[in-house]
Amino acid sequence: MNSQLIRRYHSALRSRRRWMGFLRFFSLTDPRFGARWHQYHCLPPATDEYVSSFEAHWGITLPDEYRTAITQIGDGFGGPFYGVSPLEDWCQPTAAEDFPPDFLQRSFDPSAARIGGLAPGAIRFCNAGCEHYYLMVVSGPLRGTLWHDIDVDVEEKGVLGLWYSDNQPVSLADWLNGWLENLSLEGFHSSYFLDPLWTKCAFQNHAIAKLFNATDRPITTITVDQLPCPYCFRLLREHRVRRVIVTSLPGKDYGNPKSAAILGTQGKVDVEPREAYP
Ligand SMILES: [Zn+2]
Repeated sequence: MNSQLIRRYHSALRSRRRWMGFLRFFSLTDPRFGARWHQYHCLPPATDEYVSSFEAHWGITLPDEYRTAITQIGDGFGGPFYGVSPLEDWCQPTAAEDFPPDFLQRSFDPSAARIGGLAPGAIRFCNAGCEHYYLMVVSGPLRGTLWHDIDVDVEEKGVLGLWYSDNQPVSLADWLNGWLENLSLEGFHSSYFLDPLWTKCAFQNHAIAKLFNATDRPITTITVDQLPCPYCFRLLREHRVRRVIVTSLPGKDYGNPKSAAILGTQGKVDVEPREAYP
């Protein structure tokens, strides 16, 4: 991750925040997926001391690119899907105390059994909704690679690597850069381009998909207990649901799906960030 990308990233977030302000003035919303949740905000960067103490506590060294992102862009910032989470959200929505001390030191293996719902040797660094997360591998030969983590139910559970067609892994820098490039595209689902799975799969087991499958009646308001994934988000728009209320437990962590109440208005289905997010 070079300094030019970091500068471009900060600059894009700034201009998008201005754009959001302009839209708000006219009671409009940014239709891009996740935009009304993270609002292109950027939390203060993590300090080297903080990152080092995290690494010492868990006995790992974070991949360089990820470390650079959280220490030079922000420890939580607007980006793909519902944004890049703060480091302390690494095991969202579970508490860190629930994991064995060597959990992150174990060599990541996509077929290994989960512990507490998480794949050992990787952190959840981005929430895509509906219990889908993106993983950054922190231990083992696959260290530094990105994976799509599906934790919805037994049938769908699994982790899938993000690779280019020539079998090269997608790097975090490429991933963030891809999001920046797609910001210029019209349409709400620019995040789709970051993971072809969203365009290929219909996640019929998700609560929102099940609801639409169960009734033909028009639905104007939906209450769900977590942020909708891109697939469900598209369904909500297709069915012209005017309001989505996400009920959740109070929590301190941005990105934690249990942490906010969310309202969609103006015929747009989208999410509001929690109050404490600056
Ligand atoms: Zn979903």
